[in-house]
Amino acid sequence: MKESPAVTENVVWHQHKVDKTQRQQQNGHQSAILWFTGLSGSGKSTIADALEQSLHQRGIKTYLLDGDNVRHGLCGDLGFSDNDRQENIRRVGEVAKLMSDAGQITLSAFISPFRKERQDVRDLVADGEFIEVFVDTPFEVCAKRDPKGLYAKALRGEIKNFTGIDSDYEAPQNPQIHLHTDQQSVEQSVEKITTYLANKGIING
Ligand code: ADP
Repeated sequence: MKESPAVTENVVWHQHKVDKTQRQQQNGHQSAILWFTGLSGSGKSTIADALEQSLHQRGIKTYLLDGDNVRHGLCGDLGFSDNDRQENIRRVGEVAKLMSDAGQITLSAFISPFRKERQDVRDLVADGEFIEVFVDTPFEVCAKRDPKGLYAKALRGEIKNFTGIDSDYEAPQNPQIHLHTDQQSVEQSVEKITTYLANKGIING
């Protein structure tokens, strides 16, 4: 686990009396960050939303950080250049870390196209807490679904730096969970992630 780079000499971490372990005990489950990554339209938000509903119904404390929603507020000042994308993910990673400290299971749905930025978030938290969920949907399928009409615009050249068209997507090499949404239903994806969480002892089976 890595300290944030900008820790200054005169800022001292305050050790509060109620800590992460106590929060987790009260919640009855461990913290985790389910980091969904994949192309736009691959199904990150859809699966994260369905999974959150299922976990919430079981009394599990969750929070869904959604890429589009975060860009309305916390990251509203950022665009889609490589630098801004990295800053976007850095901020979200720090928020996810706080959520983890709060004892929650965080679901984050961001394209997060670059390996290094995903690794940087992984390095912020304890081993095993960052769970990379690769929503692996072929470009052609995403472009055909085009749920937000963005591929049509990008292919007409009306959106710049669009992942998969004129901006790279670096697929995970060794994701903890690998989903193929062109072959699996949303329910099957939810089941696969839930089974993973139970097998790792993060939630009760
Ligand atoms: P992302 O968050 O990755 O940009 P969205 O979840 O917003 O993607 O959009 C994915 C679209 O694909 C939705 O319209 C969803 O209904 C559709 N879809 C079709 N089949 C699946 C599947 N098996 N899993 C997830 N999404 C699917």
